[in-house]
Amino acid sequence: MLTEKLLLHVLMVLAPVLSYGFFFERKYFSSFPYLWGALQSICAAFCIIFAYHDGGLFWDLRYAPLILAFLYGGKISGGMVLGTILVCRAAYGGEALVFALLGIVLAALIPFLLSGIFMDYHPYKRVKMAMITGIWPIVVQIFILLSFTAYSSEINSSLMDTIFRLLTFGIIQVLGIGTAARLNELIIERSLMKKEIQKAEKLNTMGELAASIAHEVRNPLTVVKGFLQLMQKDDKDQRHPYIPLVLSELGRAEVIINDYLNFAKPEFKQLEHFSLAQILSDVCVLLNALAVKQGVELKREGAAEALLLTDRNQLRQALVNVIKNAIEATPSGGTVTVSLSLSGDQAVVSIADTGKGMTPEQLSRIGTLFYTTKDKGTGLGTTVSVKIIESMQGKISFKSEPGKGTEVTLKLPLHKKMNISY
Ligand code: ADP
Ligand code: MG
Repeated sequence: MLTEKLLLHVLMVLAPVLSYGFFFERKYFSSFPYLWGALQSICAAFCIIFAYHDGGLFWDLRYAPLILAFLYGGKISGGMVLGTILVCRAAYGGEALVFALLGIVLAALIPFLLSGIFMDYHPYKRVKMAMITGIWPIVVQIFILLSFTAYSSEINSSLMDTIFRLLTFGIIQVLGIGTAARLNELIIERSLMKKEIQKAEKLNTMGELAASIAHEVRNPLTVVKGFLQLMQKDDKDQRHPYIPLVLSELGRAEVIINDYLNFAKPEFKQLEHFSLAQILSDVCVLLNALAVKQGVELKREGAAEALLLTDRNQLRQALVNVIKNAIEATPSGGTVTVSLSLSGDQAVVSIADTGKGMTPEQLSRIGTLFYTTKDKGTGLGTTVSVKIIESMQGKISFKSEPGKGTEVTLKLPLHKKMNISY
């Protein structure tokens, strides 16, 4: 009988969550504290009204709405439920009224203390925390029960039995709170996801707009650059010493625009068969000048051969970005190793450096647009590389340890593999 009643109560505990999720799917619970508080108060009142009376005790899940209100809705919602429970319980009266009211206030203490910080935790931790908080009222009730029996000096033969029941009841209460908390988290997750989707849509439109502007700006830039180059040729007596500076800045602007356009829409102009090993060697030769300037040794390892079918220039761009980052992150005397191997039907390129590495926080941000830690950085390089590699049905992953170095692994689908030797 008790279990049946309590299972009904579990349903009652879930009702506010379900109705909230049904009507107000876009908001956090804490953004409507009065509504959340009211729903949970109704639930708490129902719990008390439909409680199972036995052995002079009320068996119900009233603390579940109390905890959920404090944790998810904040102090206002929690206060409303606490008030409701106190009023309802007082209306029932009884000889143990003072103990009961004291117990309720005590049980609200921990949820009250947690209410300010609860939402700062990770969703999974929150469910666990809510469940653990659910144990507290049981502890309080056992304590109150013991002190009440001591106070009334009645020798209650069924005390052990009551405590046992309280424990069973506690388990159901904790499970009920856990389920409700998990449902709450699903609602929060859904509303966050909706927001993310809306944001992504907006960004997409803005990205397209920016791409068309960037495209339009590129043409006049090319013209200006052309004429400046002509001027530079004519300017033999160096009357315009700023021209090289202007040209270099124009070049930078061009690189940024090209990178951005590449990011917005990687264009695979021409698909062709080519040797990945050859491209890697070309890129290493190209970047060797930069490496030498930085005092970094750029090594090319592994003699595996891999034939790919994709846009050669795009892949070259992706590799240049990644290897350039590796060289830039490495202090003088360090090494950057570029190696190629085969694994199943994939070519695996590894770019490992002995540079400054990245913290987990930095690592999680790499690949996001405009993320850079460099003074003159654009934060486009990695984003473009990731986008290009993914458009080629490849994968790119980063492994890094601060102070030790970074390893970037690119996996690209092979067109045909030819193992010459290792
Ligand atoms: P940029 O090079 O213009 O800063 P990127 O998108 O190429 O932009 O790189 C973003 C950031 O990622 C860099 O500023 C750097 O902090 C970090 N980063 C990328 N590659 C490495 C690496 N191999 N080692 C350490 N940090 C790196
Ligand atoms: Mg870069």
